Amino acid sequence: MVRIGAHVDQDDPLAHAAARGADAVQFFLGDPQGWKGPVVSEGAALTTAADVDVYIHAPYVINVATANNRIRIPSRKLLSQHLTAAAELGAKGLVVHGGHVNAGDDPQIGFDNWRKVFERMECPIPVLIENTAGGGNAMARKLERIARLWDALDGLDVGFCLDTCHAHAGGEDLVDLVERVQAITGRIDLVHCNNSRDAFDSGADRHANLGSGQIDPELILAVCRAAGAPIIVETPGDGQGDDIAFLRKNL
Ligand SMILES: [Zn+2]
Repeated sequence: MVRIGAHVDQDDPLAHAAARGADAVQFFLGDPQGWKGPVVSEGAALTTAADVDVYIHAPYVINVATANNRIRIPSRKLLSQHLTAAAELGAKGLVVHGGHVNAGDDPQIGFDNWRKVFERMECPIPVLIENTAGGGNAMARKLERIARLWDALDGLDVGFCLDTCHAHAGGEDLVDLVERVQAITGRIDLVHCNNSRDAFDSGADRHANLGSGQIDPELILAVCRAAGAPIIVETPGDGQGDDIAFLRKNL
């Protein structure tokens, strides 16, 4: 059985994991919307010694793809700081969104900027690039872009996190999605298992509990089965325990 867990508050990840029946957790280190470096709470530090798999989610503000130096350079620094802190916690991976270039910029600039990240940064644990739901010039919304990103990262050891809500809202059909992703990346290291409050290709990143969104829960299960990777639900917190129980029962 694969590990199944939840994205939880960083104040006390182990307590939140226990309350949900989770054997994996994901959390932020500090403010997900801020540029200050990572902060490891006392509760977060306790995960180091626990029998719970840990994933760290990097701040949303990070965008290493952009041509804008004033965003890209601090993004690289923040990513590197989070990687170090996540590795010290013994995390299995650091999840980071694929980012975007501005409207009018050639997406190739963004793919090349991603390559420069991994050419310059030591990776003591895997960095998992996550597909995103929105934006017209995103690096990792559509599979066509993910394919170009992986072309740019050729020969480098980079992981992939597949988010089911983002795929649906981003306009990628979940049927056979795992096979199509693996044909590009060769790997799926983590599944972010979420239903979507919004319609196919809406571009809206709003997660729903597994039984209550616009995606057929059977399709979500099929993605999880095909991926065979650890699973994190990033769904509304009061339903996470039920979501995990649903996955354990049906996978
Ligand atoms: Zn996600």
